[in-house]
Amino acid sequence: MQDTPTQENPHYSAKRRFDAVIFDIDGCLIPEDSSPLNASALARIAEHNRRAIGEGDRPVVTVCSGRPHPFAEAMCRLLHNTTLPCIAENGVWLFFPDQNRSERDPAIRPEHTEAVMEATKWVETELGPRGVSIQPGKASSISLFHPDPAFLKELCPMIEQAFRVCGWPFRVSMTWRYINCDLAHVSKSTAIERFIAATGIARERLAGVGDTQGDMMIREHVAWFACPANADEKLKAHADYVSAHAEIEGSLDILQKLCQG
Ligand SMILES: [Mg+2]
Repeated sequence: MQDTPTQENPHYSAKRRFDAVIFDIDGCLIPEDSSPLNASALARIAEHNRRAIGEGDRPVVTVCSGRPHPFAEAMCRLLHNTTLPCIAENGVWLFFPDQNRSERDPAIRPEHTEAVMEATKWVETELGPRGVSIQPGKASSISLFHPDPAFLKELCPMIEQAFRVCGWPFRVSMTWRYINCDLAHVSKSTAIERFIAATGIARERLAGVGDTQGDMMIREHVAWFACPANADEKLKAHADYVSAHAEIEGSLDILQKLCQG
């Protein structure tokens, strides 16, 4: 039985059950709308991470999000994650804070970039006049926003149909407020596999937290999974622990649970 860091997993510590906990951002660490972040609660997670990295007695918190790279990088730095890659844009990017290095999924080829550009043009032409806008900052995917999420949801089938007809290889999914159009072969799942390969932290040493059905991709790659109270009921059914508290209060409760072993 391994009890010290090894070449395979330099992040291993016998003082903790898990070496890392992978958090979705929206709905878990921050509200998905544009309301203020709970900075004091986030500072408590940063304090957790300082101890996790200094003492090795608790898992290091990193993030795995559909948010654009700069947002995920800022969260990673705010949370004092100085050691583990974070995942941005639903798997397009790994950002390595210890090296200040960003790595786009090498499986994204020029033809995929071209499909993103063509689909962007289609969205602007067809959906722009109906009040749909594109979330700024994404490189190899498209997220659509409309002030009325119900209206956005109604558009989903016709968007899927249009992408199919045009041969653009996207997976179309809905969060609480956005439609995410992601390259079909890139996901939180493929990114966590890259994370595991880069860090050496295997599934049995990983925990995860999420709130929407897309976070099943986190669930499937971790040994222990938790949800805050606001999570989708269908996802909660797959959780090892569901906090009685919502969003970041729920996440702080989950971290406490993880520290108890
Ligand atoms: Mg979420």
